[in-house]
Amino acid sequence: MSDAPAAFTEHDHAERMARATRDAVDAGLAGLLVTPGPDLTWLCGYRPTAITERLTLLVLTPESEPRLLVPALEHPDAAGAPGAGALRLADWRDGQDPYAVAAGMLRPHGRYGVSDSTWSLHLLGLQEALPQTAYRALTTVLPMLRAVKDEHEVARLAGAGAAADATYEEILSVRFAGRRETEVAADLARLLREHGHSQVDFTVVGSGPNGANPHHEAGERTIERGDMVVLDFGGLRDGYGSDTTRTVHVGPATDEERRVHDVVREAQQAAFEAVRPGVACQEIDRVARGVIDAAGYGEYFIHRTGHGIGVTTHEPPYMVEGEELPLVPGMCFSIEPGIYLPGRFGVRIEDIVTCTEDGGRRLNDTVREMAFVE
Ligand code: ZN
Ligand code: ZN
Ligand code: ZN
Repeated sequence: MSDAPAAFTEHDHAERMARATRDAVDAGLAGLLVTPGPDLTWLCGYRPTAITERLTLLVLTPESEPRLLVPALEHPDAAGAPGAGALRLADWRDGQDPYAVAAGMLRPHGRYGVSDSTWSLHLLGLQEALPQTAYRALTTVLPMLRAVKDEHEVARLAGAGAAADATYEEILSVRFAGRRETEVAADLARLLREHGHSQVDFTVVGSGPNGANPHHEAGERTIERGDMVVLDFGGLRDGYGSDTTRTVHVGPATDEERRVHDVVREAQQAAFEAVRPGVACQEIDRVARGVIDAAGYGEYFIHRTGHGIGVTTHEPPYMVEGEELPLVPGMCFSIEPGIYLPGRFGVRIEDIVTCTEDGGRRLNDTVREMAFVE
């Protein structure tokens, strides 16, 4: 077992909630409304055992201390959350209308940011209780809310990255040829857990033509000698995400396979070297795309270059054309260019990177040259 990092404190959560409230006011909002999910976990440390139809709602407004409305039967769980001392708990009981209770905490004409994962059941309930209120998706209105990590968060992301790297190094010695993708995917999940992950979010094993579909997970195809295989896996360790990709080959590769792999690796390296404070997110995408375009494969690079990572494995901001937000020290995100040749094979190489004052630092750092497996 690994040593768990020190838990986030009430003070950490109080600071996060205070900053979120300030950011909301700066964005012209009356406040933020947050239901169970990654934003609630990050803000106050509360993760209900089950996310159900009963309303749990964190209300952050400048005129009050943070308030957390919970079903009365879940009050003891909420009171035990790491950030509970920094907020006031309010209950509603079965038989009461929770939206009427929540309405008493809101301005009738207020415009609120609402967490992306809020069920429409709850949002529509609030709108019915207060028809003059208006809502914006939290990541649309505050895309940077969780984007800049403090040193403790970066340390957890580095720990998750190291566990993913260890998983990759061990998967190279399992048998590929003659086994189904789902069997190798199960090996990846087992290794991530052995290296301390509490949750496995995805284990992509895209062999041969399946590698040309970036969203292929793992299927019943039997891996053959001669296949290129995309391995993309990650999850949560100590509450923070991992996400890495390497593309391996079963037995000797053709010249074309080697060339495509080299182009993707050069694109990944060039984008990594472009990381520094003040550079726009879209520039990271442009640099990777420039290398792949110059090699003649531009039309086969069919997705954005990267995404943020933190208490979730995919979050804003995104490394994509049109995203003009500048990189800031402490931001953590993927750089994952790829080339996908339909019906044939795909190559993707992905590392999580953090922006420092001096440039990028990789949180994944296994060998990026093509590895050969049996
Ligand atoms: Zn091949
Ligand atoms: Zn990935
Ligand atoms: Zn990714």
